[in-house]
Amino acid sequence: MRHLHWFRTDLRLNDNPAIASHAAADSLLCLFLMPKPKPWCNLTGVGKQRDRFLRESLIELKKDLQALGQDLLVLEGSPELVIPHIVKRYGITEVSVSDHPGWEEKQSVTYLAEKLDIPVQIHRGNSLFTETDLPMALEDLPQVFSPFRRKVEKLNVRGPKAAPEQLPSAPSAQFDAIPPSIHKPHPGLPLPGGRRAGLRRVKQFIWDDESIKQYKLTRNCLDGFDGSSTFSPWLANGNLSVREVAHTIFDFEKNKVANESTYWLFFELLWREFFYWRAEVDGRALFLLSGLTGKPRRSTFEPRNFARWCAGDTNYPIVNALMRQLVATGWMSNRGRQIAASCLINELQGDWRFGAAFFEKHLIDYDVGSNYGNWQYIAGIGSDPRGGRHFNLAKQAADHDPKGIFIAKWGGVRPLQPDYITDAADWPIDSEKV
Ligand code: FAD
Repeated sequence: MRHLHWFRTDLRLNDNPAIASHAAADSLLCLFLMPKPKPWCNLTGVGKQRDRFLRESLIELKKDLQALGQDLLVLEGSPELVIPHIVKRYGITEVSVSDHPGWEEKQSVTYLAEKLDIPVQIHRGNSLFTETDLPMALEDLPQVFSPFRRKVEKLNVRGPKAAPEQLPSAPSAQFDAIPPSIHKPHPGLPLPGGRRAGLRRVKQFIWDDESIKQYKLTRNCLDGFDGSSTFSPWLANGNLSVREVAHTIFDFEKNKVANESTYWLFFELLWREFFYWRAEVDGRALFLLSGLTGKPRRSTFEPRNFARWCAGDTNYPIVNALMRQLVATGWMSNRGRQIAASCLINELQGDWRFGAAFFEKHLIDYDVGSNYGNWQYIAGIGSDPRGGRHFNLAKQAADHDPKGIFIAKWGGVRPLQPDYITDAADWPIDSEKV
């Protein structure tokens, strides 16, 4: 019994049912394939901070595996090509993966299950509930959040499982070291990769600083550590299991305080859960301009406006600061993401998918369901019962950055420029007359 586990967004040994399933195997090969997103919306590759966070996570996971006599093989290439080759080379008899709600990720697993004549086992992904826990069939999953929440919030969240104390040995001597990133976490918002950093942040936010007690009041702050938990990168990469985060909240409520804010942090995990299962159901529709509605959404896409939005060089200082924060740190607060997305969709009339693709490239917490689901929500073609959101940028800046500290910190003030430099016939507009 020579097994292979293909790590994807489950970069941990704790509460990882796929890893625990190999106890009886004679050997286990742990594999990770560096993400190489297909070119999409004029964008390629992953941003420097996303790559940095991932590499830090992989280096730590490799060390944790080595401490158990195991190792991690990290390769580049598409799973459809690499995995059949590895299976043949090492005489693998069974493959495991943790479930992933993304459409392309599912396509890869379906392809492998058909192509390989060995079992491909799919284990629970990083979700609070399993499909069988849900009180409805997936085809009856509510389109909007509130009915979903009402149905699931009282369900029992099973406790996280400890990491296995032993693992079968690796089929080969040590694999190559993982080249570290040349980039560092940004000093203005340092979010290091790896499980230990995630556990430290959970301890700090919940137990040491007890910030969870005020979370509902502070969660819309634009700079991470001041207000929200910043757990998202470790959840998205699977350094932390969402069940262990939920149970830490429950422990705090049992042993310290339970109030509206402590509940609200769990409530946000339910939003994550909602988008997880919606992605599972919506499949390709998550990436369509018309989203779930099937109705074309009007956009007058102007490449120059999109480029200015990406560069944080629009006529909106708050948006510029947010976009610069994103590229520099790989993170942006929830309110920030709503403001930046609303600006691209409403002020700049862009195709929402280009914005989602830019976020996908740069976010260290990129998560297919939460990213595309939230973009669709703001564009009004997803799960928003109110048909989209248009944030008043001046009001948002006044509410969330009244003294302009955030804008100054991330360099949001830029020279004003005309929105269009060519007319409808593509002739240059005389800027003196604009
Ligand atoms: P907290 O406020 O502390 O919340 C705790 C946790 O709850 C988060 O870590 C996250 O797992 C979950 N959560 C909170 N808000 C949401 C939400 N609106 N939707 C889903 N889950 C939520 N989140 C991602 O994890 N990955 C993404 O790629 C992503 N893209 C987004 C794109 C847009 C346009 C918008 C508006 C939101 C997006 N979000 C995404 C959701 C949300 O912005 C982040 O999860 C949150 O900002 C992360 O910061 P935090 O951990 O401090 O959140």
